[in-house]
Amino acid sequence: MNIKKFLLKHHLRLILIFLFLIGIRIFLLQFPLLKNLDLEISILFSFLISILSGFGGLYFLLKGEKLSTIFFLNLIFIISLYLIFIIIELVLFNCPLTEGIFFFPLFVITSSMFSLSISSIAYSLGKIKSFVILFFIYIVLIAYSLVEYYFEPQLYLFNPLVIFFPGLVYNEIFEVDGRILIYTFGLMFASGLILFPKILDESEKKILICSRNYFYILSIFTFMLLFVLSDELRLSTSQEYLKSKFPLKIESEHYEIFLHNKNISEIEKRLINNKTQFHIQQLEKVFGYRTPKIKIFVINSDNSKKELLGDEVADFTKPWLRQIFVTTKTYDQTIKHELAHIFLGEKTDNLFKVAAGFNLGLIEGGAMAIEWDWLENTPDYYSAMIKRFSPEIEFEKFFNNYTFATQRSSLSYLISGAFCKYLIEKYGLKKFLELYREGNFSKVYDKDLKDELNEFSAQLNSFHFSKVDSLRFKVLFGGQTLFERKCPRAINRIKFEARKLISKRSFEKAEQIYLRVYQRTSEQDAFMNLIITKFYQKKFDEIINELNSGNYVNQFNGFNSVYIKIYYALSLAKIGNQKKAEEIIQQLKDLNISSSWNAYFDLILFFIDKPELIENTIDKNFKEMLIELKKNFPDETSILVHDIENLNDLELEKVIEAYKNEPWILKECFYRYLMLGNFTKANSLIETIKLKYSNFNEAYKYQIDLMSFVLEKLRPEKGV
Ligand SMILES: [Zn+2]
Repeated sequence: MNIKKFLLKHHLRLILIFLFLIGIRIFLLQFPLLKNLDLEISILFSFLISILSGFGGLYFLLKGEKLSTIFFLNLIFIISLYLIFIIIELVLFNCPLTEGIFFFPLFVITSSMFSLSISSIAYSLGKIKSFVILFFIYIVLIAYSLVEYYFEPQLYLFNPLVIFFPGLVYNEIFEVDGRILIYTFGLMFASGLILFPKILDESEKKILICSRNYFYILSIFTFMLLFVLSDELRLSTSQEYLKSKFPLKIESEHYEIFLHNKNISEIEKRLINNKTQFHIQQLEKVFGYRTPKIKIFVINSDNSKKELLGDEVADFTKPWLRQIFVTTKTYDQTIKHELAHIFLGEKTDNLFKVAAGFNLGLIEGGAMAIEWDWLENTPDYYSAMIKRFSPEIEFEKFFNNYTFATQRSSLSYLISGAFCKYLIEKYGLKKFLELYREGNFSKVYDKDLKDELNEFSAQLNSFHFSKVDSLRFKVLFGGQTLFERKCPRAINRIKFEARKLISKRSFEKAEQIYLRVYQRTSEQDAFMNLIITKFYQKKFDEIINELNSGNYVNQFNGFNSVYIKIYYALSLAKIGNQKKAEEIIQQLKDLNISSSWNAYFDLILFFIDKPELIENTIDKNFKEMLIELKKNFPDETSILVHDIENLNDLELEKVIEAYKNEPWILKECFYRYLMLGNFTKANSLIETIKLKYSNFNEAYKYQIDLMSFVLEKLRPEKGV
């Protein structure tokens, strides 16, 4: 048999390659997200094995081996590797084998089949030439993806060598979805059409020459189809395709805003336009220059953003295209930051218009320094807090890309942001832009980065924090990141299934899933969800017992710990222990995490006061619940404050009175007045705000200026 002969002849080479690939797998085990046999590993091995199959295939063909032998051996090779990887996975991690393990065979078999078909074509061109041609084809394929990433808005990529590259790793769930199936089957089919007649030719059953051509034509046709219809098949998102999804456009001299939502009201449209105008004007003042036209795409939801661009969790910018992608919900929070990326990029000289060497500490730190706003305060305040309560943190880490990316992102953004702002204030923006372009700290500032970081760090000591702040710190910056979790992808997929069950109100099944996940990982997140599913089933006693027996009640560790306390308190209220419940929530409120959290705690306190209403939170979704409660308690400001975007003038007044000490809620009320067209009230509110909060903090100061600007623009002619 051919395979046996082949193995005898080439066993040394094959064994070496096999061991080499296993060696790589073991080497990669140390990196987060590359630990488990999931999407990331499949992409990497897809690339490696497709290159090996291409060149190896060609090498063996030129040695006179049969294509059929190479093809089947390749398959056996991949399957053996896959089995070993599964064993590594089971022995080392004991992760649940979920959908993630299908990426590997699907990706690797497809890409290697594709490569083999290309090498079989190259083979017919003659010895030396064929290697050059194959090499050239690979270069073109890689270059094509780079060009696509560069010129098109999308973050994700489909490429025959890696199959699917998601763009951002922060998205928690990747599945073998319809697009991946269409692409892999398309590629396998088209590659098979090339390989099949060649393999048949080798056997005795020769097929007619003319019918062989049909195979090739059909193969080319399939490749063409994947290429031409790539937008429609969602394998790519071209500029034209994206624009076709945005029915509305606001155009001005310096920017264009594309709106996804065609039902947006006229006043909302004007508001978005004026806010953008303000931010751009402010940035022009700070930087002292203008940028060519900026394009801003405002997308309806995270889901559509994922579908269109391949990213769910974060807004982003491609500075070299001067294009920004944000969602309606996050627009206010992120637009200034994204614009800052573009302004910073203008003075660079690299193709991507980012900081030299893709230094994330400068790219994100620079944008944060310009934005100068994080959760209702400035980044230096939070950096000082981090330093105070986590003194072991080394600031230098944030100027190394690997540690920047694997740290909790809020830490990386805040500290690099505060440091960049410190540099700008101390040495001027011009010098900072030089650093941004050159990347060499000691050359630009004539000083050691470490020394400067020490001085910056010393300056942070001027902030003072209380004992309560240490708990707030633990809530804001505690908990696990994606990189720290065990089996992150697999567990997230399972949790996603549980979330689907909850939305279908199959609470018991969801509870069982969370229980299993918790037992396996001891994850706090799983525990929180376990408590929530018990709460949905009204197992209040069980929740109290569960929490009394463990240590979770006293823990402050990330926002999950806050939710655990909330459900504990609601359960306590339900069994009549309102006093203790109130204490718990009051303690949370005293942390003063943010104005919206404070408002949320007020609502929980309202429920604790009226435990008979608590079931409302179970039986209805949040919006429905608010509507229902509003009917029965029209004066209850802890309810009204969660529905500001729907309040009338009178209700707004009540909220303003109740929350006069929460400037960020007053800001929301101000914008609601604008939406209602009540400019007189908006004006008097902003006067009050200015009197009381002009020196609140720099982040809020900027918001006051923004409000004043917008009001001035929207207000009908004065004298009315
Ligand atoms: Zn950014």
